[in-house]
Amino acid sequence: MGGRLRVGVLAIQGDVREHARVLTDLGAEVQLVRRPVELSSVDGLVLPGGESSAIDKLSRAFGMQHPIRDAIAAGMPMYGTCAGLILLADRITDGIVGQETFGGLDVTVRRNAFGGQTESFETDLDVPALGDPPVHAVFIRAPLVEQHGPDVEALAALDDGRVVAVRQGVLIGTAFHPEVTGELRFHELFLNTVRATS
Ligand code: GLN
Repeated sequence: MGGRLRVGVLAIQGDVREHARVLTDLGAEVQLVRRPVELSSVDGLVLPGGESSAIDKLSRAFGMQHPIRDAIAAGMPMYGTCAGLILLADRITDGIVGQETFGGLDVTVRRNAFGGQTESFETDLDVPALGDPPVHAVFIRAPLVEQHGPDVEALAALDDGRVVAVRQGVLIGTAFHPEVTGELRFHELFLNTVRATS
């Protein structure tokens, strides 16, 4: 034991700094990950919010898609918020033409699921795995988990039952952005998962 956890934030596009700050505040050593060699130096990876189609395209251009898929297959813990959740989904609907994901979560995720007026909104969510108080969740052009397989645990749902946070083994995904509200518990859950596997 001892030593700081070394975790990465995929730093291709999106709210990289916000995640890096939360993880640093929680005592982790943070590596920004743009290249395979940086990925191989970390024990877990956060996939930020941003634009999933851009992160997909650029990660392929930078030769990162296969290394990230290999890391997922090898059991590296990952936490994706919003666009990051989309990138961890095995299946997506309403992606742009040719959009791919890293996959890993046995879920179908709909991009930009909250159209029109409610594209962005905030709400308090009960998350039994995190206990009290509820999580103040910010949704920004957020996706929704439309369907999930039997090995996927729904961590949180909206009042109408629609699932917005999931976990499958060492992979966690939220449709909202804890990194922008000072909410630390999802990142703590991620770091505990990294600690348990490294
Ligand atoms: N709508 C974005 C996408 O499709 C996600 C938005 C976000 O990450 N805040 O990637």
